[in-house]
Amino acid sequence: MVSAIVLAGGSGSRMNSSTAKQYIELCGMPVVAHALKAFQQSEVVDEIVLVTRLQDVEYAKKELVQRFGLTKVETIVVGGKERFDSVWQGILAAGAECRDVVPSDLDGSEDGATQDIIMIHDGARPLVTPEMIRASVEAAQVHGACTVAVPVKDTIKVVKDGFGIDTPDRSGMYQVQTPQTFKRDVIMSAHQAFRKDPRPGITDDTMLVEEYLKKQVYIVPGAYSNLKITTPEDLVIAEALLSKKGVPEGK
Ligand code: C5P
Repeated sequence: MVSAIVLAGGSGSRMNSSTAKQYIELCGMPVVAHALKAFQQSEVVDEIVLVTRLQDVEYAKKELVQRFGLTKVETIVVGGKERFDSVWQGILAAGAECRDVVPSDLDGSEDGATQDIIMIHDGARPLVTPEMIRASVEAAQVHGACTVAVPVKDTIKVVKDGFGIDTPDRSGMYQVQTPQTFKRDVIMSAHQAFRKDPRPGITDDTMLVEEYLKKQVYIVPGAYSNLKITTPEDLVIAEALLSKKGVPEGK
């Protein structure tokens, strides 16, 4: 069973817009509808769990699920204050019940390969493709945890008090995107450990797996076009990419 959790529970304050960024219209469809359609069209995805804010549940039913015929959206759940809280609600809704994990479940080998898979995707990334989704599910079945990512293009500086204090070696540095995909027990036990003992500075689900389970996360090639709508110029770029047919992957 492959469940895709699509997150649309944020408010998106960096957009300077009264509409949350995932609901802004992009090429005639809300941003999140583009993402949902990719998971709907993917033959490897069995169900979609859509996470929204409480005030958006009715909108999501009518203007997303009904309007776009999203038959795989089995459940709409209300998210939480932080992204982690929204992901957790999605995991709980994604099917199998909570259970403790034995270490052999986490090694990504042998009979573990048939475990349920959970994908986590930012609803604000409209340009995810069915190819990325398929590659992520295949990698998660083998390795237990993976994320799509692309090599960084720019030189990165560590800045303190207005001055660059370090310029890390760019080779081997990747910019992490979503979907992030896991065997169910891997992501469940990482979140359970985080909820028991929350540590600061954790920014995504792959980092939870690294920090709490000491487990490596496999990198699946993403695409520079798989951008997250965060600031107004991202909308202009996404609109151009969506209206241009045949955007080459990774360009
Ligand atoms: O704010 P950020 O860009 O990190 O949000 C990434 C995704 O997580 C967005 O699709 C947003 O709607 C979602 N999110 C959520 N619940 C929150 C915060 C963010 O579902 N509490």
